[in-house]
Amino acid sequence: MEFCPKCGSRLVPKKTKTGKDATLVMTCLKCGYTKRAPGEKVEPKVVKTIEPNPRQFVAVIGKEEQKLRTLPTVRMECPKCGNNLAYVWQVQTRGADESSTQFLRCTKCSYTFREYS
Ligand SMILES: [Zn+2]
Ligand SMILES: [Zn+2]
Repeated sequence: MEFCPKCGSRLVPKKTKTGKDATLVMTCLKCGYTKRAPGEKVEPKVVKTIEPNPRQFVAVIGKEEQKLRTLPTVRMECPKCGNNLAYVWQVQTRGADESSTQFLRCTKCSYTFREYS
């Protein structure tokens, strides 16, 4: 129930015709105050969704060959062919108490081996 802000009388719902559409208004019978009924012609809210830029995601290099191009090399003698240059990378072991294991790959024969200290 609503009351007129001007005179305090009860507002009565009343239909008014504006062109083709009939709009419901709350009107005061005493002073003629009219208030538009709530819920009429609610504009749809335009919700803007910001999609994450897929380019921002760091590409995961799955191919080992691509990975090797960026790997640093270290002077290490290959136990297979005797070459003294090998790619080096570290693999973190799952155990928290274990340190990362260093792997090496011969640049000549691609023989992969672990570095034993
Ligand atoms: Zn009134
Ligand atoms: Zn080798």
